[in-house]
Amino acid sequence: MNADRILISGAGPVGYTMALNLARLDIPFTLFEAGDSIFEDPRAGTIHPPTLEMFEDSGVTATALEQGLLVHRYQYRDRKDGIVADFDLGVLKDDTRHPYRLMLEQHRLSHILRDKLKAFSNYEILNAHRVKSIAQDAEGVTATVETPAGDRDFRGTWMIGCDGGRSQVRKSMNVAFDGFTWPERFLVLSTKYDFGQHGYAITNYIADPEEWCALFKVPGPDGRGLWRILFPAGDTTEEELFEEASVQRRIQGFNTKEGDYPIHHRNLYEVHQRVASSYRDGRLLLAGDAAHINNPLGGMGMNFGLHDAFNLADKMGKIWFENGSHDLLDLYDRQRRTVAQEFLQRQTIENKKNIEQKDPLARQAFYDELRAIVADPARLRPYLMRVAMIEGIARSNSIT
Ligand SMILES: Cc1cc2nc3c(=O)[nH]c(=O)nc-3n(C[C@H](O)[C@H](O)[C@H](O)COP(=O)(O)OP(=O)(O)OC[C@H]3O[C@@H](n4cnc5c(N)ncnc54)[C@H](O)[C@@H]3O)c2cc1C
Repeated sequence: MNADRILISGAGPVGYTMALNLARLDIPFTLFEAGDSIFEDPRAGTIHPPTLEMFEDSGVTATALEQGLLVHRYQYRDRKDGIVADFDLGVLKDDTRHPYRLMLEQHRLSHILRDKLKAFSNYEILNAHRVKSIAQDAEGVTATVETPAGDRDFRGTWMIGCDGGRSQVRKSMNVAFDGFTWPERFLVLSTKYDFGQHGYAITNYIADPEEWCALFKVPGPDGRGLWRILFPAGDTTEEELFEEASVQRRIQGFNTKEGDYPIHHRNLYEVHQRVASSYRDGRLLLAGDAAHINNPLGGMGMNFGLHDAFNLADKMGKIWFENGSHDLLDLYDRQRRTVAQEFLQRQTIENKKNIEQKDPLARQAFYDELRAIVADPARLRPYLMRVAMIEGIARSNSIT
């Protein structure tokens, strides 16, 4: 493999999307992944309309639609009083070819992307290869990579860090990762118990001042449905949080039923709100969680990272084949970082504050606001354009 290639660190959904987009442009690349295979822990499960539009040309959308669950309506609930607002995404039918959310686990998306890559050549994907450090000069980058056979140097023209929240590429750049970490962690439980029989939608946000939760359904290992429930977790040990009685108490707390819930996963995540101070430092670039991290309420983090990958691959194509100016990469930084701050961070922080609101008057005012939005078509459409991430794309494209 020659050095006239792009190096990508990290084969999560964003790294694979970057890889497929470069392969489709016929730009050679090497993708390094620290792990042996695609991680299957329960993280992103929601794909929003703009993402489905972006993946249409590669055929990813068609395959994802075959495997996932469509969400035409989602619910906002009060834990004690039930449904507050029922949002019909069909209102967006003139704004997108996909007026719905698609529930599909992120590891399934990564598998689809990896399969689509098989139609191309001129690239390599190296699992069990951890990028340790990167140096850059006027012509390119040198990555020192820990491989099963020992450390090895790889040469390329650019390095794109898609290596997640703890990105080694970001640490090799002269950038800060400012923001904050929430004091509580998020506990994710999954069960095959069918909440649909109690009137829940496929996606539900359930507000409560003491113990809010988000409940949604994904295809699950056999494709027949697995419900995930996300709770805030206080200052207790993982062992206590995962303990059977405690897990049952939490779920019974918002949906009482006879007998225990069968539990399939128990996972605990730290939650942060951070954005890199620049997505570019010379020949090093960032995309996805390496560039921005946020709480998962609203299902936006992965989608946002995938949008980064489309934006950046497009500009790389112009540089690679059309002698485009490297300034295009500064435009990538301006477009995507601005929207991460203005939109991704603001919206996800707001989502968390609303769902956990402790002040009864503020909570009531928020519920009244949601009911008023649903009742007024002139307000509902722009509201859904924002939460379905359509507004963010338009804003990003408007930055020059
Ligand atoms: C509970 C939960 C629910 C979520 N739900 C949603 C949702 O519904 N919708 C949504 O859009 N987002 C959601 N998110 C966020 C989403 O999971 C992330 O935004 C997404 O995983 C980011 O993808 P990525 O490819 O940027 O990074 P990652 O998925 O973290 O992948 C990074 C990859 O890089 C590899 N790597 C790391 N360091 C190195 C190195 N030095 N060298 C080589 N490889 C390396 C890792 O092994 C990993 O495979 C959720 C997150 C959580 C925790």
